[in-house]
Amino acid sequence: MLRQLRFALIPAAIVLILLVQTTEACYSPHISGNISRTDLYVNESVTIMGRICPPADNVSVRVTFTRPDYTWIDRYVLTDNKTGEFSLSQSLDMAGYWNIFPIYGHMCDRLYANVTDPTADPDAEPIARPNLPSNRINYSVLTATVAIVGISIVALATGSRKKTRNISSLRLFVQIIFVFILFVGIFIDHQNMPWPAEQIAPHEVLVATNAFGVDMPDGLPVPTFGCYYPCGRTVTCALWQIQAYIYPFWEAGRGWGVNYDSSGIARLAVVFGGVILSSIILGRFWCGWVCPFGLFMDLVTRLRKAFNIRYRTVSDNTNVKLHQLSYIIMAIIIIVSVIFASQALAGSQLVPGTEDGGFVYTYFATPFCQVCPMKPLCVLSEGAVGIIRFEWIVGPTTGEFYQLGWYLTSINLIGLGLVIVTGFFFRRSWCRICPLGGLIAVFNRFPPFKWISGVRLEKVEEKCTKCGICKRVCPTQVKEVYDFKGGDVTTANCLLCLRCVEMCPEEGCLSFKVAGKTAFKSRNWLEEKSVWSSNDEGKKTNQ
Ligand code: SF4
Ligand code: SF4
Ligand code: SF4
Repeated sequence: MLRQLRFALIPAAIVLILLVQTTEACYSPHISGNISRTDLYVNESVTIMGRICPPADNVSVRVTFTRPDYTWIDRYVLTDNKTGEFSLSQSLDMAGYWNIFPIYGHMCDRLYANVTDPTADPDAEPIARPNLPSNRINYSVLTATVAIVGISIVALATGSRKKTRNISSLRLFVQIIFVFILFVGIFIDHQNMPWPAEQIAPHEVLVATNAFGVDMPDGLPVPTFGCYYPCGRTVTCALWQIQAYIYPFWEAGRGWGVNYDSSGIARLAVVFGGVILSSIILGRFWCGWVCPFGLFMDLVTRLRKAFNIRYRTVSDNTNVKLHQLSYIIMAIIIIVSVIFASQALAGSQLVPGTEDGGFVYTYFATPFCQVCPMKPLCVLSEGAVGIIRFEWIVGPTTGEFYQLGWYLTSINLIGLGLVIVTGFFFRRSWCRICPLGGLIAVFNRFPPFKWISGVRLEKVEEKCTKCGICKRVCPTQVKEVYDFKGGDVTTANCLLCLRCVEMCPEEGCLSFKVAGKTAFKSRNWLEEKSVWSSNDEGKKTNQ
């Protein structure tokens, strides 16, 4: 009993810290700002008021006013020595949505303003762009791209010659290519040049913003962590859309930098339609071959192997419970979003602070994204190669503990840290509880969807010698491939990574079928025995 209580202490401590915090608290260095108004006409001024914490002598802060076309104006202002407060005014010279960042060292806060032009003729030419800064090619992105793609090509070339690595190396190659497909916008800069620019790329380059007549300004949903927050995405994480379209963007109107002309219910219908269709067609193939966070988990596993450390396993019972947890997390996400949206859905506010500008609206909208480990991974990676300006992403992590803002939160970082540590010892640890993986599983592995699924893992009973290799090599400890006698052995927590197919030493015992046709099947890799000693074989299946 005491052992279980230990785990309750962590959330209890977090809740306690949240409760004792006040907005004015100053227990860690941070900067916070406010804006005099958020709706104004072009060339009118806004005043930014804020404070740094703790106050210090002769400290200046920078306030960056970012225009709708991603050019920006930098202003500097001296803070008050005693109170840390500052204030400055700026005229906004372009119609559209402005992001405004008060920046103190490597910390920042984010504000916005919506600027309209009262004289604008809807049919008139758009406002001419002001002088743009000269385009500097981002060589970090180009170098990183060449290195990553080069490694994947080498892995593909060497792995394809070995029966125990050919599917894995192909999978690594496909996973890497999908990262670039999902975020191809990083190669297109803010001046529409075909090169990545230093410091900033467009927030998104969406492949479609309309589906079946429904305005989808955040793009089409994908059932993987194609995260909403970094630059350059082409599609959007379905989990973000499910949350955001329930709350805060159930109603048409202004979102974070976009206009929603369509209703929340229409957008949600497209999201669920897209998730159901893609899950039926490809199932958790999305997890095994497409999801960038799945790739990251696989790389953590490769790191462990490089250190020659053996993986750990959880009991079968715990593994089942972890998988069930993914459905529970998904249900909690939807329930919390519905509670937050109660004003828009039912006309009465169930929790305070959900109004525009309220505490929940500011800090806890899209609640899962505030703990999701993918967000910090994406934005830190992009910051590291100069795609996102670094000071924009690290701010809130060094502010108040609960401060959940622009790109990153302390809780996100703690989550990513925990996932990396657990993922080092337990293969694909996050994927066992991932709500998005659970969502795909619901629409693929349970009747009636299961019967029409386009992808299957099949087993021929007569060929199975019960050697147990499939069970040992499975990254999510699926045991049904081993336990089931034969036929369709796909289960809800099977990622379709096909490692079991690759490592099964019985010719044709396991196969992966797409629309009824065999795409991959197990082969007798023991023929390659001369390459490894029998000990090596044991070691390979144990890692
Ligand atoms: S933070 Fe996570 S859940 Fe939110 S959009 Fe990014 S990947 Fe999706
Ligand atoms: S379970 Fe979640 S994190 Fe893992 S691969 Fe699937 S969508 Fe990505
Ligand atoms: S059962 Fe096979 S295909 Fe499914 S996750 Fe395990 S190793 Fe991969």
